[in-house]
Amino acid sequence: MVTIAVTAEPGDEPRFAASPETVKKLAGLGCTVKIASGAGSRSRFSDAQLAAQGATIVPTAAEALAGADILLKVRRPDAAEIAQLKPGAIVAAIVDPYGDRGALEALAATKASIFAMELMPRITRAQSMDVLSSQANLAGYKAVVDAAAMFEQAMPMMMTAAGTVPAAKCFVMGAGVAGLQAIATARRLGAQVSATDVRPAAKEQVASLGAKFVAVEDDEFKQAQTAAGYAKPMSAEYQKKQAELVAAHIKNQDIVITTALIPGRPAPRLITKEMVEGMKAGAVIIDLAAERGGNCELTKPGEIVDHNGVRISGLLNLAGMIPVNASSLYAKNLYAFLELLIDKKEKALNVNWDDEIVKGTLLAKDGVLVHAIFAPAKAA
Ligand code: NAD
Repeated sequence: MVTIAVTAEPGDEPRFAASPETVKKLAGLGCTVKIASGAGSRSRFSDAQLAAQGATIVPTAAEALAGADILLKVRRPDAAEIAQLKPGAIVAAIVDPYGDRGALEALAATKASIFAMELMPRITRAQSMDVLSSQANLAGYKAVVDAAAMFEQAMPMMMTAAGTVPAAKCFVMGAGVAGLQAIATARRLGAQVSATDVRPAAKEQVASLGAKFVAVEDDEFKQAQTAAGYAKPMSAEYQKKQAELVAAHIKNQDIVITTALIPGRPAPRLITKEMVEGMKAGAVIIDLAAERGGNCELTKPGEIVDHNGVRISGLLNLAGMIPVNASSLYAKNLYAFLELLIDKKEKALNVNWDDEIVKGTLLAKDGVLVHAIFAPAKAA
C-alpha cells in the first residue's frame, strides 16, 4: 500500500497538487491519499469533495506527512516537511531547479528522491505529465483576459450606427505553449493578432491560428530550435536585428503579450524602455516572463507599472489565478507521472530508475543532486 501526502501550499500559491478526480484515480491504484484539512480550499476543492472520492482528511499537515511514501506539492517543499516522510520517500513538485542552489542542496540532504516536474522530457509518452504545458496554456489565456480588462478600449471591431470601433492590435512575443494560447484567445476576442518567435516551427503554428508572423528569418533563425524543442539564446547580431523589427512593429500595438523564455537562463530582453516610450498611451503589456526577470526592461515582477500611460503587468503566477483549472490539470500531470512509479498489480512503488522520464525529472536521490543540469557545476 502506497501512502501519498498532499499538504497546503505557501500563502501566495492558490494551486493544489491533488483534485477530487486524481484522488479517485490514486485510490483506484491502491494508494491511500492523506490530505491536510482545508489544504485544497483555495482551488475550491473542499474536504468533503476530496473525502467523497476516497481521500483521508487529517487535521494537520504533520499527520498527512507522517510516514508517507510520496509527497505531492505545487511549489518546492522545505526540508522540514520532507523530513517527516518515510526515509527515502518520493517528492514531486515544481521545484525551480535553476533557483537557489543552497536550498536545493538542503532538499537533497533529506535523502528523498526529488522529482522536478518542470524538467519533464518533451517526448510523446510524457505529454500527459508536462506541467509546463498545462500551466503555460492557462497563463497564455489569462494574460489576454487580463489585458482585455486593463485595456480601456474594446477588442473586436464593431460597426455601429454611431461609428466604427477599430479592432485592437495585439502582438504576442514568443509563440510557444503560452503564446499560442494567447494568440487563440486574442483572436476569439476579435483582436488583430501578430506574433513573433525565433523558432521557425512557430511560423506555421502562428499562421494556422490566423495571426501574422513577424520575425527576422535569417540563417540563425533557421537553427534556433534545440533538439528538446526549446529556443537557443540568440547572438548579439540577431538580437540587434530583432530589436529593430520589434521597435518598428510595437509602435502601433495596443496590447503586447510577452512569453519568451530560454530554459535555465534569464528571460531574453525583447522590449526596451525606448520601445515602450514609442508606444501609444493606453497600450498594455503583459509580461509572462516576469518570473524570470521579464522580456520588457521596465517590468517589475509582481507589479503593474505605468510608464507614460503604457501599463506593464509583471504579475506572477497567472495560471494560479485560475486555480480550479490549474490545479485540476497539474494534479492530472502528477497522476500520470505516478502511474509510471507505482505497480498497479502489487499496489507498491516500483521505480525504474533507468526510464527516460524518471531520469529526466529526478533532481536528487540518496542525498545528492543527480540531474544532468548540475553536471557542469560539478565538473567546475
Ligand atoms: P518556452 O516557455 O521555453 O518559451 C516560450 C517561447 O519563447 C518559445 O516558443 C521560444 O521559442 C520563444 N523565444 C525564446 N527566445 C525568444 C526570443 N529571443 N525572441 C522571440 N521568442 C523567443 O517554450 P514552450 O512554450 O515551453 O514551448 C517550446 C516548444 O516545445 C514549442 O515548440 C512547443 O510546441 C514544444 N512542446 C512540445 C511538447 C511535446 O512534444 N511533448 C510539449 C510542450 C511543448
